[in-house]
Amino acid sequence: MAEIQLKNVSKRWGNFVAVDAFDLAIADEEFLVLLGPSGCGKTTTMRMIAGLEEITDGEIFIGERLVNRLEPKDRDIAMVFQSYGLYPTMSVYENIRFPLKVRRVAKDEHHERVMRAAKMVELTDFLERRPAELSGGQRQRVALARAIVRQPTVFLMDEPLSNLDAKLRVSTRSQIKNLHHELRTTTIYVTHDQIEAMTLADRVVVMNKGVVQQVGTPLEIYDRPANTFVAGFIGSPAMNLIDGTIGDGVFTGQNVTIKGLPATVSGPVTLGFRAEDAAARPDGGGEIAAPIFSLELLGEASMVTVQAGGALVAVKVPKDFAAEIGSAFSAAVPAGICHLFDAESGKRIA
Ligand code: ATP
Repeated sequence: MAEIQLKNVSKRWGNFVAVDAFDLAIADEEFLVLLGPSGCGKTTTMRMIAGLEEITDGEIFIGERLVNRLEPKDRDIAMVFQSYGLYPTMSVYENIRFPLKVRRVAKDEHHERVMRAAKMVELTDFLERRPAELSGGQRQRVALARAIVRQPTVFLMDEPLSNLDAKLRVSTRSQIKNLHHELRTTTIYVTHDQIEAMTLADRVVVMNKGVVQQVGTPLEIYDRPANTFVAGFIGSPAMNLIDGTIGDGVFTGQNVTIKGLPATVSGPVTLGFRAEDAAARPDGGGEIAAPIFSLELLGEASMVTVQAGGALVAVKVPKDFAAEIGSAFSAAVPAGICHLFDAESGKRIA
């Protein structure tokens, strides 16, 4: 069993709070992604779990064991970093085998375990090479194999794809997903890339400034963001967020009027909707009406942006949508696709 529990875990350096009362149970076999912008405390959280950083407050359990005072080597965790950390003078085979030697695993098991790990990440043909003779993606796969070979109870991965180019990132991401499907090892994965989080995670933890903003499945986070920070971080493009006032179920703001919203809410609010949920209204009469600010072809569709509610708002349109910058544009933004957030706290209202 490799359930991991963080109970009110905090990290402070002097007065600076890097992680504030992180409280979460990670299930056995779960793939948990810590997501957030640079400096939000993801790596610090991960390093506390690994035992590389002392905890200021709180408790961490791995399985039944309180590990606060346990050395990293005694936590039965394997880590994979952004920088691969391979030994340049060793062959791929020896790099993968290294943790077995260090841990004094019986010699007669080495070959089979190395070959099994190498096969899982498709490195069987490269075992004689040195790291310098490999591509970035292959090097990262050696690092993955070296983590796999140990058969740890937990994998910790810190931005393992960020040194790879876009294409390799996608294929290595699939490989990680497939590995987790095969091995079912509890995994905590750190990234600032919301697409990685959405594609890999069973659950995502969105963090900002050391504070957990929301924990949920990728769809929960996408469909019902808990606040404007999460709404503005998830999705490409992120959710449109516009300022205005609501009263009697009608939201009004610059270039926008939306009827049929909950009549129980009144006063200043932030209204959110996704570019793909809105639609162009070529004949006019939509909830948003404004001149086109930009029109971009994305490939499978195009994106129009207009100024509304104090922000640039994106609306997805068909790829053959023809219009000039500056010409009149109207979009249907029905109440049913809208999210409402408190104007001050940013918290979700409806
Ligand atoms: P990134 O994506 O850039 O790696 P992150 O979310 O992983 O960011 P952390 O590395 O966890 O962020 O850092 C969280 C905060 O703690 C940052 O503001 C960082 O400057 C601060 N921090 C990290 N290590 C120390 C330290 N040893 N002393 C003081 N502050 C630190």
